[in-house]
Amino acid sequence: MKAHKLKDILNYILKEDDFIISDLLEAGNYNANEVIDYLKKGGKISSVSSQRECEICGKLAGSINYYTDGNWVWPEWITHYILDHRIKLPDGFIDHVKKDNLDQNLIQLIVNQDIEIELC
Ligand SMILES: [Zn+2]
Repeated sequence: MKAHKLKDILNYILKEDDFIISDLLEAGNYNANEVIDYLKKGGKISSVSSQRECEICGKLAGSINYYTDGNWVWPEWITHYILDHRIKLPDGFIDHVKKDNLDQNLIQLIVNQDIEIELC
């Protein structure tokens, strides 16, 4: 069976040293509340206790657990960068936020590991 492809938001926002691409900061291309509401509808696909510390303000940004909407995956800590640093997010991701059309069946299949996924 072909793996279901999910886009990893980190491939769009992190540099090789694991820091956020600085041009993206304070360049938010969205309504933050709308994005945060959308992120809450995602399914959690990992369970780890590690946290990311924000390299900009030093606060704990949140856990490194991944969530998915069936098209993209993002880490829990992204909310800190959205709320406190207005990080610009990929247009393709924002398109999904605007459509607000999550496939909860697909999300459950991914969460339950009933289908194979591939991050790209
Ligand atoms: Zn910060």
